[in-house]
Amino acid sequence: MATTSLPSAASSRLEGKVALITGGASGIGECTAQVFAHHGAKVIIADIQDELGHLVSQSIGETNCKYVHCDVTDESQVKNAVDKAVETFGKLDIMFNNAGISDHCGPRIVDNDKASFERVLSVNVTGVFLGIKHASQAMIRARSGSIISTASISSDIAGTASHAYTCSKHAVVGLTKNAAVELGQFGIRVNCVSPHGIATPMATKFSGNSVEQIENKVNSIANLKHVTLKPEDVANAALFLASDEGRYISGLNLLIDGGFSIVNTSFNIFRYPHT
Ligand code: NAD
Repeated sequence: MATTSLPSAASSRLEGKVALITGGASGIGECTAQVFAHHGAKVIIADIQDELGHLVSQSIGETNCKYVHCDVTDESQVKNAVDKAVETFGKLDIMFNNAGISDHCGPRIVDNDKASFERVLSVNVTGVFLGIKHASQAMIRARSGSIISTASISSDIAGTASHAYTCSKHAVVGLTKNAAVELGQFGIRVNCVSPHGIATPMATKFSGNSVEQIENKVNSIANLKHVTLKPEDVANAALFLASDEGRYISGLNLLIDGGFSIVNTSFNIFRYPHT
């Protein structure tokens, strides 16, 4: 489990709200569970890593946080997780479809087999579809809700990850936009967040590199210098979209990449001499 540095002053931007976070046992999801709970939300963590998930919910405190086993590719388990949120805490205000897998740089497209391509899409796209479907059923009754999904810079640019991962994250944006149009009439907002590389267990496991090595690598290619992207940066973006501060934002793909995706490095006209 990672340690999350939270502001010391008590804050209540999500007071009275109930959130369900998939992939909440690790990395960005774990950090977001901590941040949401810190801001007053009741949180359900849904994941397939049961031991870690229970540890995270215990660290938050079981009055405010529960763990449920949920494989996001299995519709009955996603429905069960939404039902658990409603049964335990009375409603569902925030759905964070964050669970995802990577096949890292993946096999080249000429070598990839259908099953591994479909595996990435099954978690990263079907999982998000099922999350939006079942969360919105609970939210339609309340005529309000905020659904957020984790895409990636690979939702906006190509060549930074495998073709399967890039395809899956582009699809998350399509799902987000279409669902925002479908669900706006019920007062439900649908957005996604798209981070650049972060040294979570997903990244360390696949690359075999340490947190420091990954952060150095990401920083060396970053547009925005002198700052290192952390899970907290994504959690805070999700917090904004989940809270009433984001109450008129829907259909947005919020890039958390320090401008990485808008740079064309072929043009090098703005380089200042180092000071
Ligand atoms: P992570 O591996 O630390 O966390 C992902 C979590 O998802 C894990 O707890 C894992 O058990 C869970 N998960 C995987 N398959 C699941 C399934 N079928 N059902 C339920 N849970 C499942 O990695 P992370 O970096 O925190 O990833 C979170 C999200 O962020 C993913 O969608 C990922 O694609 C996205 N993302 C990560 C980065 C990065 O560099 N780390 C960058 C952009 C986007």
